[in-house]
Amino acid sequence: MKKAGLFLVLLLMFSVSVSAQQTIKRTLKLMGSRFDITVVAKDSVTANHDIDMAVAEITRIEKRISSWDPHSETSLVNANAGIKPVKVSQELFDLIKRAIGISKLTDGAFDITYASMDKIWKFDGSMTQMPSKEDIKSSVSKVGYHNIVLDDAEKTVFLKLPGMKIGFGAIGKGYAADRAKDLLQRKGVVAGIINASGDMNTWGKQTNGENWKVAITNPMDKNKAFALLPIKNEAVVTSGDYEKFVEFNGTRYAHIIDPRTGYPATGIISVTVFAPKAELADALATSVFVMGKDVGLNRINQLPKIECIIIDAEGNIHTSDHIEIATK
Ligand code: ADP
Ligand code: MG
Repeated sequence: MKKAGLFLVLLLMFSVSVSAQQTIKRTLKLMGSRFDITVVAKDSVTANHDIDMAVAEITRIEKRISSWDPHSETSLVNANAGIKPVKVSQELFDLIKRAIGISKLTDGAFDITYASMDKIWKFDGSMTQMPSKEDIKSSVSKVGYHNIVLDDAEKTVFLKLPGMKIGFGAIGKGYAADRAKDLLQRKGVVAGIINASGDMNTWGKQTNGENWKVAITNPMDKNKAFALLPIKNEAVVTSGDYEKFVEFNGTRYAHIIDPRTGYPATGIISVTVFAPKAELADALATSVFVMGKDVGLNRINQLPKIECIIIDAEGNIHTSDHIEIATK
């Protein structure tokens, strides 16, 4: 009897503390993109402090990996392409190593050395005509992860060819989202979402006890979500061509480049990848664009704990083997 009473009190206390939790969200621009950071905390002061920590962490990473900031470690590596190896932080060294790992996993569809193509293909509306075959050919000759030389002992990175360049556009936001989530979890934040322009990383549950949910929209009809999926302590990343693309002679070219040809990927308009980490999900979403629907699905189906949803240029939806979506 006494025991039951105690249990009841504990239960009550638990529900009081749960209901006292608040969900606070902040939207801001980081890494040139929109970030939405959501945390669950006991009050708004704590929540805002938690969010400040996440922002500081993402800003720190941006300073290191940005190709726009001429003082970043990445810019220093690029400026010394074909000249000399550059000593970098363990963090950047490891990120480059993992990026090369993903290149191997995707037969070169993912390649951070795609970046020397950014002189040729611009997706900011400034392109007025298709680049010439010659220009594409000469730029793509600088692309190839095999020409990144890493020295483990010295912690140096050397881009062998003059004019070679690396860029983290397809993996950086995912990496930053992973680091921000790790940091907040270590600081004891019970639940949250780091959403880096569609690169979502979640942990814990909503204050009502339910899992976080992610809405998958069909780029053909942006106002309508076609699926609402629960996500539990994992990352969901969508890579879509509906924001950045160019069109020549009726063909739509995405801002994702096939490193093997130097031409942008075609045939897919959106890829959503579910994975334990945002970094891998981010990189794989980009890779599936390049690999195309059949090779992409095949590769994803071979990877444990990874699922994907592809929407092709005709608006058809394709899913990996172990995902179930109730389409509306
Ligand atoms: P978004 O940043 O729009 O979410 P992605 O994550 O797919 O989209 O990243 C696309 C960006 O990745 C491009 O804007 C470019 O910076 C870079 N990129 C393009 N092609 C490749 C590629 N084949 N491998 C690695 N990075 C790429
Ligand atoms: Mg990506």
